[in-house]
Amino acid sequence: MIRKFISRILGRKSPGLPGEPAIIAASKHGIRREHISNGSRRTVETLQEHGYKAYVVGGAVRDLLAGITPNDYDVATSATPEQVRSCFRRSRIIGRRFQIVHVLMGAETVEVTTFRGHHEQQHGGNKAQTDSQGRVLRDNVFGSEKEDAARRDFTVNALYFDPTSETIVDYYHGVADLKQKTLRMIGDPKTRYREDPVRMLRAVRLAAKLGLTIDPEARRPIREMASLVENIPPSRLFDEMLKLLTSGFAVTCLTQLRAEGLHHGLLPLLDVIFEQPAGERFVMLALANTDRRVREGKPISPGFLFATLLWQDVLTRWEAILANGENPPRIPSLFLAMDEVLELQAGKLAITRRVASDIKDIWALQPRFDQRSGKRPYGVLEQPRFKAGYDFLLLRAEAGEVEEALAQWWTDFMNRDGDARAAMLLPPPADGAKKRRRRRRKPAAEAAGTP
Ligand code: ATP
Ligand code: MG
Repeated sequence: MIRKFISRILGRKSPGLPGEPAIIAASKHGIRREHISNGSRRTVETLQEHGYKAYVVGGAVRDLLAGITPNDYDVATSATPEQVRSCFRRSRIIGRRFQIVHVLMGAETVEVTTFRGHHEQQHGGNKAQTDSQGRVLRDNVFGSEKEDAARRDFTVNALYFDPTSETIVDYYHGVADLKQKTLRMIGDPKTRYREDPVRMLRAVRLAAKLGLTIDPEARRPIREMASLVENIPPSRLFDEMLKLLTSGFAVTCLTQLRAEGLHHGLLPLLDVIFEQPAGERFVMLALANTDRRVREGKPISPGFLFATLLWQDVLTRWEAILANGENPPRIPSLFLAMDEVLELQAGKLAITRRVASDIKDIWALQPRFDQRSGKRPYGVLEQPRFKAGYDFLLLRAEAGEVEEALAQWWTDFMNRDGDARAAMLLPPPADGAKKRRRRRRKPAAEAAGTP
């Protein structure tokens, strides 16, 4: 008992190795081999038949214990990637920095990782490579099962389920922490955040997803260390933000990020959102909408999500461009604003090219919704991204940025056909041509008027 207590304290305070793990029987934790995916179960069984240790590990075990359907199943094993590959006909090694094996089981792809260790614990104190802020750059040393548990982030994520014995190997009292609804860091939180600032974002996301409270010791340093988030490579930040936004708990996550001071410098877009009440309203509506869709099991598009997050910034820049120039053309100015916003983001958040092109398509449709006469609305309906652009318009209307009547017009136009649709068209703006001519002449007139 006392040893357990001491090892628990040590386990929490030092990044060192844990003592003996608790082996928890199925009668206590309730997870049966039928509860995990077929593919992950067969993968573990095959590895064990070949004499290796193998478990389903991490988020999947945690989610099953919490009564949530896992989004993926990871397997951890003592076999090296080459050894894993030789156990399965349909498998391939991927990744250069740290090799993992994808095992194909029917339609399922199971990710198999060899137990990893911490550099300091390896080969006579071989130190991990870090950058000037202490972020670990390379994390690619094989290790023992114990070391593998020690390098994981939270106690609830260091659970190893063996489908053969149906036991859970629990090194850091993760099962108890989950029951007590606590998200506790393994080791010293400050050190772990410094090694990898993504863990601060993971803390917020996992707490929201699982309804856990971040342990005060893990929560306290976040505020003072928040700026380290700027140090996260853009591609990882994009992946993590996408996970966060599509978790079904985006509203809770973003509210929490703000409460923890993590939104500053995290993404310029979050600063912008929270500084402008109109922007906040729009984004919160968009996120609530996304959360609803995720929970209903409907698909969501990353392009749509990021388009909503960045829209206020686009609007602000667009207005600034229009106000500064001498009657600059509206649409090209919008495109200029769009490019500026995406370029500014690129330094921080590596939005993939495909997603960026979706975002642009959605934005570019918005001014076209103003045109409700002649042939143009028919052309808008034909656009490949019409539905996303239209959903975006509905949000703008809901947020009060455009009139409800405009959104309603498009809903009706979309749902009608033939004569009924044609009857909806507005008369062409009578003075449109004149207006345009007058506008073009204005600079000249002004120039003439200048002494
Ligand atoms: P979810 O799948 O819901 O996003 P997860 O915890 O499973 O959550 P993954 O990215 O799938 O997240 O990671 C799988 C496991 O790898 C985690 O449960 C954890 O044990 C470990 N892990 C992931 N990211 C980190 C990290 N930044 N630091 C330490 N361990 C990590
Ligand atoms: Mg996972």
